[in-house]
Amino acid sequence: MHKKGCSEEELFSFLSSVKENDRAYNKVLSSMCTIPHPVAVRAHNMFIETNLGDPGLFMGTASIEEMLVERLGTLLHHKKACGYSTSGGTESNIQALRIARKLGNSKCPNVVVPESAHFSFDKAADILAMEIRTVPSDDKFRMDAEKIEEKIDKNTVCLVGVAGTTEYGVVDPIEALSDIASDRDIFLHVDAAFGGLVLPFVPHTSKFDFELAGVSSLSVDPHKMGMSTIPAGCLLVRDPSYFHSTEVDTPYLTVQKECTLCGTRPGASVAGALAVLDFLGEEGMAKIVDSCMENTRRIIKGMENAGYPVATMPEVNVASFCCDETPKGWQVSRTRLGHMRTVCMPHVTKDTIDEFLTAIGEM
Ligand SMILES: *Cc1c(COP(=O)(O)O)cnc(C)c1O
Repeated sequence: MHKKGCSEEELFSFLSSVKENDRAYNKVLSSMCTIPHPVAVRAHNMFIETNLGDPGLFMGTASIEEMLVERLGTLLHHKKACGYSTSGGTESNIQALRIARKLGNSKCPNVVVPESAHFSFDKAADILAMEIRTVPSDDKFRMDAEKIEEKIDKNTVCLVGVAGTTEYGVVDPIEALSDIASDRDIFLHVDAAFGGLVLPFVPHTSKFDFELAGVSSLSVDPHKMGMSTIPAGCLLVRDPSYFHSTEVDTPYLTVQKECTLCGTRPGASVAGALAVLDFLGEEGMAKIVDSCMENTRRIIKGMENAGYPVATMPEVNVASFCCDETPKGWQVSRTRLGHMRTVCMPHVTKDTIDEFLTAIGEM
């Protein structure tokens, strides 16, 4: 720190000069985050000082968190789902594995995940000292349903499926996983961090949520397609008793027990998340998702015409291509197998895609 403070003007001119090093979202096709919806920003600012870690002090904000859980639970076919708002998919996945590990009660627990699982499961397994068993993908980059059972043994405390994979935008065979989980009485966590706010608004997609009886818990991130401010994730569980397993005593707070991973938690972004859902409603969300899916089809068609086919047909607005080069000035990412990965978030317009395709043509 400097010994003496500086003037506000000096401070903000410094901050804005640093912010110039950030990228604007306009040529970014790699991000699962986007520019927050204006109502999210307004609600965020309104609740800026709130702390959900001490809900007795912020009962209004705490009721907003309950409403968010209720909205998302209802959308994902379980009106009575229990849950809380997390910092994002990573925390939701860590907590789900933590619950499964406690409930599973094994001395050397393992978790069975698809090859396509997000790297947050590596973190979770490391923290929780769990063995990760990986099920290979089929030719469509989904978890190979035929190869799940052979990975399971008596120490398997959790199965994981992804609904809307980070790299290829596909949905694992969650129905098959749900059957296995029910038959063998194993905890099934569905990572719908991205797809949870896309798939409910896309017609004719595979089932993936609490509608399937074997699904025990689910991650869904409002700070991705929910267009809220960051950080806003959500962990939902089928049975409220699951959270007893992560509870600790909290001697000096307004509540006696806490089941969350973080202590101090923002209320601002949670208000932001609820604001977007209530402002848009199902119709408004469907309209935005529809335009993202339309743009996804547009980029797939354009890339195909340019000689770069899509690696597999996605079910959400993530498309990856057999294309080794990257056009100058554009931000795309690479999957672990080296495919060019793009995400058509709400900030990616039809014009952005046409510009991108022109740049591809000039490569
Ligand atoms: C984004 C994502 C995550 C991680 O979420 P964070 O909010 O970055 O912690 C986990 N799983 C899937 C499928 C994701 O798309």
